[in-house]
Amino acid sequence: MVIDVFYMKTCRFRDTEPCSSMQGLFCNDESPKARYSMVPCGTTNCPCCHSIENSSNHRFINGYTTYLNCPATCTTSNVVYVMTCPCGQYEFIDSTSGTLATALTYHRLVYNHMMHSFLTGTPIYHEMMTHQERCQHLIMKKMRLYQHSAHCPVAIQLFLEHNPAYWCFISKSKEEVEQENDLYARIVRDTRSEFVYMLPRRTNQEKKVARLLTGVSLPTTVRHFSSVQIQKQRIFFDRLLLSPVDELPYVEADLYKMKIIVVLPTDESIILRYIIETLFITHSETKLNMICPIGIDPEQRYGQPYDHQWFYSIKHRTLSTRESILSLIETIKELNQRPSNDHDDDDNNH
Ligand SMILES: [Zn+2]
Ligand SMILES: [Zn+2]
Repeated sequence: MVIDVFYMKTCRFRDTEPCSSMQGLFCNDESPKARYSMVPCGTTNCPCCHSIENSSNHRFINGYTTYLNCPATCTTSNVVYVMTCPCGQYEFIDSTSGTLATALTYHRLVYNHMMHSFLTGTPIYHEMMTHQERCQHLIMKKMRLYQHSAHCPVAIQLFLEHNPAYWCFISKSKEEVEQENDLYARIVRDTRSEFVYMLPRRTNQEKKVARLLTGVSLPTTVRHFSSVQIQKQRIFFDRLLLSPVDELPYVEADLYKMKIIVVLPTDESIILRYIIETLFITHSETKLNMICPIGIDPEQRYGQPYDHQWFYSIKHRTLSTRESILSLIETIKELNQRPSNDHDDDDNNH
């Protein structure tokens, strides 16, 4: 029944024409056909165009196929769209009275921030957030969509390709850590750089870095961070605290693929949009939405939004070399030698 409703075969709006052989309220035996497609708008700087492939239908992971009911582009408003994770195993349906381009910009902003928040243990603007904003952030952190991307090996790997500075937050196995720590300890001994084992807490800046480091957590007790990684985390937080507040610490990565699945009439009511969106969610069984067909907790129906062993699938880059460790020690030395009154006033300015 739902498929028939979504076929919208009696519609005549927004450049669609009813197919003469299919007129009437009820379905005949003819199966749905692709008649319209979504094409890039071609505008310079459009955030969507590069990720759009001309498409006229969408096959969901559960096998349900939907056909676009109107011609569409990045600038078409009042749409229901689907977001697919690069792993190809998880989908999310959403709708907007705006365009796909604005929805993409919003989601990209949030899922990249969530990636930062999950990996580092603290949201970027933590110190400046109001109580309400912190609550909002915690609610978002519980959303299956963001839980998934921040624990999906394919999405994380894609994020790391654009942001190698975050590799230090990806835990390693005991063996990998021991191997890296051995080399590190040898170089520290050879160069008499034992100072690297001390985490100074003289200035406010150093105290803040120490606080942020306590927020970083390991996914399980069998995973660890190497000494090199912990030092890199320290440098990461130090730079983050010194960077301008309007500057993001990462390059935004395009993780989810987005596609319009329904175009609604321009005078459509919000309620109708939500009803159609909900019908799609329940029919296509998207695992990342917070509702599901039988009205129970989606976790009961689809399980956790990600695989708890996610970290095993992340392919670490090669281990640290002697050269990279020497240069790391040099950076830590410079950090430690920074005048101690340098950032003492920081707290008073906020
Ligand atoms: Zn476009
Ligand atoms: Zn995924």
